[in-house]
Amino acid sequence: MSGKVLKNARIFSGEKIVNNGYIEIKEGIITDWGEGPPPSGSSWDLEGRSVMAGIIDCHTHLLEFGALGAQKCRGEAQKLGGYANLTKALQAGITTLGEHFLGHPVLYQELDEYREIILNSPVNILLCLGWCVIGTDPLTFLSSHSPGRVIERKDITDQEIDWMAENSQFPGESIFINATVANLPPETVPHGGKEIFGFSEIKNLVGRFKEKNKNLGAHVEGERSIRNFIDAGGKVLHHGHGITRELMEEMKIKGVEWVITPHGGTSSPPTTPAEIAFALKIGLKPALASDSYLPVHPDASYLTKKALQGKEIGPGDFLHLIFNLSQELLGIGVEKEEILRMLTVYPARIMGIEKENGSIKVGKRADLIILQGLWGVEINDPEDIDIVIKDGEPIIDRL
Ligand SMILES: [Zn+2]
Repeated sequence: MSGKVLKNARIFSGEKIVNNGYIEIKEGIITDWGEGPPPSGSSWDLEGRSVMAGIIDCHTHLLEFGALGAQKCRGEAQKLGGYANLTKALQAGITTLGEHFLGHPVLYQELDEYREIILNSPVNILLCLGWCVIGTDPLTFLSSHSPGRVIERKDITDQEIDWMAENSQFPGESIFINATVANLPPETVPHGGKEIFGFSEIKNLVGRFKEKNKNLGAHVEGERSIRNFIDAGGKVLHHGHGITRELMEEMKIKGVEWVITPHGGTSSPPTTPAEIAFALKIGLKPALASDSYLPVHPDASYLTKKALQGKEIGPGDFLHLIFNLSQELLGIGVEKEEILRMLTVYPARIMGIEKENGSIKVGKRADLIILQGLWGVEINDPEDIDIVIKDGEPIIDRL
């Protein structure tokens, strides 16, 4: 689609919504855009359809835990399961992922194989490497450096930390400061939420990541652990359930970023619409992420239709969840544009790709979605996404 011009489009640029606009694309890059008819040349009439940057989901587990969890694929089929999940993401208008490799106990795919999938996939994927601690009794320690087996806490050495830091491409959940409940029933994870790493250990991790010019992201829940993470110099708080307004204000002052998973992911009740509205009000600019595949926490059941309750939610259902969350946020005065930024502009900044992705601006990559209403604030069904454009070319086409 090099040299194509889209016209008669309702555009969300990242800053504002323009009702009759055009976008010019050359060689996969946005070269011009604006309000009104295009200056010249042949153009593609979108007949008033909406256009915005592709969605950025900066917290997913599609290639590893989700390959077995959602697609039931292991062994040599793990890759196929991963691709199936990536297809679902694209079909839902998600063009960029912050994907996690944590070392599943029965999936033995190595880092090189993840890199190969990423290289061969049209989805933009940045990879975060880390350890996972599951709140079983005894605790289960896992590492992306030793996939396919359980490790011990003492195996998390400084050399291991350096390897994780070197190979992580964005600050995802490299470390689980609190044990996760994963997707397991509560009786299987009695230590879900337990503090695993205290202040001095987090500080060591932050320091070692800094030596490799990387920022530390972590899976965190509960006031005490969130405070330790902020005070130790952590950069990206994932989940952060149980946060207080005071802690949000401190994060704002110290430049700590927040990836919100509104439907769960820890042992604590998930972030509420009122908390999200407060974060936005003080200028915190958080991202909304799916943590796919993740079941819905009982306290967030308002986000689902009955058919989804108790099921693990993936990229396709994320749109539906965000739509229900949006209705709550709009109801308490959050602007449509601000909700959309939590799915595009803000995750791009958190992942360090804001120069190329996340909004419609001259010079940015033409990763766009053409849809029948704005994603998650006006539509709730992936079927309403007509076209997904990647680097200027349509790659999902429902028209
Ligand atoms: Zn996660």
